[in-house]
Amino acid sequence: MIQRFAAAIEVHQSDTETGWQQILQSASLTVAELLEQLDLPPSQWAEGARLGHELFPVRVPAPYLARIERGNPADPLLRQILPVLDESQSNEGFVADPLEEFRFEAGPGLIRKYQSRALIVVTGHCAINCRYCFRRHFPYQDHRLSPERREEIIQALAQSPEINEVILSGGDPLMAPDSLLGDWLERLAQLPTIRRVRFHTRLPVVIPQRITKSFLDLMSIGASRKVMVLHINHSAEIDDAVREAAARLLQAGVLLLNQSVLLKGVNDDAETLTMLSEDLFDAGILPYYLHAFDSVAGAHHFALPDQRAIEISEQVRARLPGFLAPRLVREVPGAESKTPLDF
Ligand SMILES: *Cc1c(COP(=O)(O)O)cnc(C)c1O
Ligand code: SF4
Repeated sequence: MIQRFAAAIEVHQSDTETGWQQILQSASLTVAELLEQLDLPPSQWAEGARLGHELFPVRVPAPYLARIERGNPADPLLRQILPVLDESQSNEGFVADPLEEFRFEAGPGLIRKYQSRALIVVTGHCAINCRYCFRRHFPYQDHRLSPERREEIIQALAQSPEINEVILSGGDPLMAPDSLLGDWLERLAQLPTIRRVRFHTRLPVVIPQRITKSFLDLMSIGASRKVMVLHINHSAEIDDAVREAAARLLQAGVLLLNQSVLLKGVNDDAETLTMLSEDLFDAGILPYYLHAFDSVAGAHHFALPDQRAIEISEQVRARLPGFLAPRLVREVPGAESKTPLDF
């Protein structure tokens, strides 16, 4: 496996810092463009897609689009990005902010729910718009932290020695330029209480070219261990470029974990999830969490009853070593940690 990684790393030495940003610029598509590229008949999909697009625009970078099977409306990656008619129909119990994220904001950009970890919203932007995301109601377009606010956050962390891990999140933190990420890492490096810096990101999956030499150089700032939690829901999201990006991160000493969301019609069976864990492991990524779907308004068509989620999770555990079985969890507002459903 090491040799395969080494070969993969050589291929990419020529990457440029602007390459991924160019890919990003072409991520916004019209509904017509999307349907055409995917060989889907407009007559059947256009109306739902157009309505959904108005609520939460289509956004899908080319490297991700390329992994979608043409002409297959049931493709598990397609379902994550194509707006459908269901989105514009409301459903009781499905709300805009199921995690009550804003109740726990310790001032702009800082979310503190758990004792030892604090989360910083580095940027509100994402490279992809996932249809099931609660962010669909909070695109946070204008969320930008001033240098003064960044300093305030660092001061708040300095005064909370019980926090030993900082999570850089968003949106997607890797949407921020390396200069800004470097600034955060340099500041965090001044805090001896911070032992780990974690990134919650989908960018290495949706635009693997984001993992440039310059980004990898950031991983050695400070003494803290770097952890990256990726977000992959299905094996078909892992192609050679993703494996390459993972290999480069591993070589830079980053621990790679994955969280998935359990989604009806995407990954709601034991076989799909077992294969995902196996493929993640082969790419050097360890399964971490499987999130029970949150009742996000406009995404009820992805919902699965808890009982079914628990059943699937038990079947997955029966097929895998413990270290490859992700924990089925839900975020319960006010709880002191993620709440396991399958204990
Ligand atoms: C999920 C989450 C974390 C991290 O939880 P872990 O169980 O450590 O992965 C931290 N802060 C917030 C606000 C979260 O939502
Ligand atoms: S926050 Fe994550 S799940 Fe939500 S749209 Fe962005 S990348 Fe997708």
